[in-house]
This record gives sequence, structure tokens and C-alpha cells, in this order.
Amino acid sequence: MVLLLLSPVAATAGEADRGVAVLAYHRFDPLHGGATTVTTLAFERQLDWLDAHGYRVVALGAAVEGLRGTGSVLGDVVAGGRAVAITVDDGHASVYTQLYPIVRRRHVPVTLFIYPSAISHAAYALTWGQLADMTLSGLVTVQSHTYWHPNFHVERAHRTAAAYRAFVDDQLVRSKRVLERRLGVPVELLAWPFGIVDADLRAAALRAGYRAAFGYGGGPASPGGDPFAIPRLPMSDADQGAVLAARLRLGPSVRGPAAP
Ligand SMILES: [Zn+2]
Repeated sequence: MVLLLLSPVAATAGEADRGVAVLAYHRFDPLHGGATTVTTLAFERQLDWLDAHGYRVVALGAAVEGLRGTGSVLGDVVAGGRAVAITVDDGHASVYTQLYPIVRRRHVPVTLFIYPSAISHAAYALTWGQLADMTLSGLVTVQSHTYWHPNFHVERAHRTAAAYRAFVDDQLVRSKRVLERRLGVPVELLAWPFGIVDADLRAAALRAGYRAAFGYGGGPASPGGDPFAIPRLPMSDADQGAVLAARLRLGPSVRGPAAP
């Protein structure tokens, strides 16, 4: 009887203010910012601002659990609308040379979305040794960004339905398998290349064993949203002070659309 009385009340207060802002970065540079490059100074100012305004940087896996309403300390943070998670896509070398020293010094958890075909192969990319080094720190978590970062719209256009399905399955399964084997860590989260996601891709992510996936764009993520299209906030040097505050503010009035 007690449970029956309590359960309808729990979800009423502050529902619109609950959520986690998942920040999305790509590259870091000591001097020059750009569309997908944030200067190290701007990044540190963003961390300072979050700290000064009561935001807590949480691990992405914990954020996913919080969005699911799983009970934990994080659940309280999420309920207060002051949690952020930091993600970095594509495995650019500057993650190791520019971001990682800041992560270590400030002890902030960061998740890297990696497509394994580039690692120790492309000139701009991280090496497997650097990824292993960062993973061992306990501060950096590596998750999947498919195997070679295809544009699924383009790939679908020149394949039969069966061949496209096999292609998608391979991209999702191979990435997970290679990252797990190389780094010895479980890979359960996925970021969609270019933020492209639809019903077929969601189903494929589920088949491949992922438990959540992220888009690119939109506002803070809210509990009860689609766990395979969690929105993220693309970040630039311009995200400081009042601009950053407006983007992080939770609630229906400023909540962005679902990821593209
Ligand atoms: Zn990407």
C-alpha cells in the first residue's frame, strides 16, 4: 500500500530540470580554435566555469545510468540538473598531446569515441599505445564510433537492403570487437558518425550489443529520451559564460531537437 501511495508522486517535482549535458569535442590546439577545434585555454575556462557554477563532470557510463533513472549518487546529481559528461570524437592525436595532460591534472573523466581503422594508421590519429596509456589512467574511457566512420546515408544508397544491413552490422560489431580486444575494456556505447541515426540503425546497435548511442547536436539529454539517440552539445571556443550557461540550461524551452 505504501508503494502505491508514493510512486505517482515521485515524478512530478522538477521533471523538466532533470538531465545530463553531454559535451562533444573533436580536436584541441594550444593556439588556434575552429569549427571542430577547441583551444586548450578555452577548454580550461569551460571546466573552470562548470566548477564555479556547481556542475559536476561525471563519467559517461554513469550519466547513461542516471538518464535511465538507476538509483545512485549520480541519480541525485542528474535530478538536480547539474551533471555534464565530456566526450571526444574521432581519435585525433591532439587528444593525447593537448587534452590528456589537462585531464590528468584536473582529474576529469572523459570518453573517447574511436573508429579503430584510423588508429596507428592515419597520420592525424592516436596510436594504440596512446589509447592503452590513457585507458590505464582510469580517467579516459574508450567507446565506439563505428569501424571506419561511414556516412550511412551514402552507404545505403548504393547497396541492396540485405547488403546494407550486413555492412552496418559489420561496422558496429567489428569496432566493438577490435576495441575490446586491443584495450581489454568493455565497449557498450556508440556515437553515430555525423549524428546519422534512424530506426534501422537503432535496431542494429541493439543487435550488436550496445546499450546506448549518441547523436551530434541538440541540447541536454533528458531521462526517458531515446537511449539510442542521446543528444550531445557540439562545443567550440565560443561556449563561455552566458553562452555556455544558455546552452546548458535544462528544460523544454531551450532543449534542442533530437540529434540529426
Ligand atoms: Zn566523427
